Amino acid sequence: MNILRLCLTGALLLAAAAGAAETRRTLLVELRQVPEDMRASSGVEAGPGHYSYDSYDRDRILSVVRDVVLMLATPEELAQARAEGLDARVLMESDDQVTLIRRALYGPTLKLAPVYHSYDQITARAQALAQAHPKLITRVQIGETTQFRRPIYAYRLSNDAHRAQERPAVLLDGCHHSDEVLGAEIVLAFMEKLLAGYGQDAAVTAWMDTLEIWLVPVINVDGHDMVTSGREPRWRKNLRDVNGDGVVGVYPEGVDVNRGYDFNWAQGGTGEPSKVSYRGQHPFSEAENRAMRHLAGLRQFLLSVSYHSQGEVIFYPWTWAGKPAPDDDIIRRIAGDVAANIPKMEGKGAYAISPGGASSQSYPWFYGRHGTIDLIIETGKGAHLFPPEEVPGIVAANLLGVSALLGHTNGPGLAVKVTDAATGAPLVAQVWLPQIENETVDRRTTDAEFGRRWRLLEPGTHYVIISCPGYRTVALPAVAVGKTGWTGLNVKLEADGAVR
Ligand SMILES: [Zn+2]
Repeated sequence: MNILRLCLTGALLLAAAAGAAETRRTLLVELRQVPEDMRASSGVEAGPGHYSYDSYDRDRILSVVRDVVLMLATPEELAQARAEGLDARVLMESDDQVTLIRRALYGPTLKLAPVYHSYDQITARAQALAQAHPKLITRVQIGETTQFRRPIYAYRLSNDAHRAQERPAVLLDGCHHSDEVLGAEIVLAFMEKLLAGYGQDAAVTAWMDTLEIWLVPVINVDGHDMVTSGREPRWRKNLRDVNGDGVVGVYPEGVDVNRGYDFNWAQGGTGEPSKVSYRGQHPFSEAENRAMRHLAGLRQFLLSVSYHSQGEVIFYPWTWAGKPAPDDDIIRRIAGDVAANIPKMEGKGAYAISPGGASSQSYPWFYGRHGTIDLIIETGKGAHLFPPEEVPGIVAANLLGVSALLGHTNGPGLAVKVTDAATGAPLVAQVWLPQIENETVDRRTTDAEFGRRWRLLEPGTHYVIISCPGYRTVALPAVAVGKTGWTGLNVKLEADGAVR
């Protein structure tokens, strides 16, 4: 027997145990009426006397919803909480951490509450809605999951959903992170609202008549199934079998689907596979991200929202080396308006806004590569799986945010259309505003189907350059954009004789 090897193995095991959890926590403890100053985050490390959820403390704090804290505790930590004067009760004692977490997040039944939907239920509900409203919704498979090759579905809604509409398009998606299940519920609730409200509700009818609305309730379908089936209530990444041993769904495997986009990819997340923000081996290594790329190729989106939890904050593109995005004024106006319309759970005030970093996540990619103003909305406060009685309120609050978002789909801005002067055929042309768009963003283009680009702008005059290979470039030094609505700009490009 090799003593050295034994000692090394022992040391490694000890180190691994210390990394996973310093102390074995076998008690599920509920703390009630925890004072606000013991819950407030403000950058304080989680520890004795502090019960914030914000640091995503996987080992100790499971949720902090209103003034109720659920935590995994040692007997010493239980005694400590009681010494702090807190009302602390033991809900369960077990050596099995997953069972304790199930009890905390699913409740006494250890099963997900029916207020939440599985992916199969979402798909079936959408099918039933499509049968009831065949003209208003159509389903498109945009890809399949990395591990189990389950279909990832998008839904297109308008008053004539079976045909592409020459209109501004908006996208709402949920569950890049599968533990953040509220996103799927909000997107599904919005689908219900659009289909039930068309012809009844004036705002809904106007949206369906003037926009094309795309919904992707669940991107990370494999992960979402881990959460909704009860296998692992906190599964966050996708189900990629990172070490290739044929065993999947064992923490910490998987790839963070919101770190897989190819915009400053290497600066986002981490290359360490065991971390929650593991970005994968290369940009678009994950099929879930390729599905979103496929969708972005099908349709140019003016605005989009990726729903996450938690924190009651909206992240927008971006802050990059201390500099804002080229369209910062417009982006902040929209993000601010959406946030101001989403009331917080506890009733005091509304969501906040904050610029996010410019790497690898959905919002810098959508904005930087495609010109879509994408927001991440972190819904709810203090949990990912909320107690069932909290879900309708969070969903309703966020539907108010969707209404505010859609209020920005009618300009001010330019409705650019570029066609071939001789044939009238739509052209994929660059629409460049050199006084706004610097080198941090890709050149925006018109779409292939209609030759369209909807471009939100501040009212006033703008310098616009339209170019397309094989055609003479058109420079328009002073295009006037009206105070409200879309200002039409139809450009007919002449073929460049020199190349003929
Ligand atoms: Zn998230």
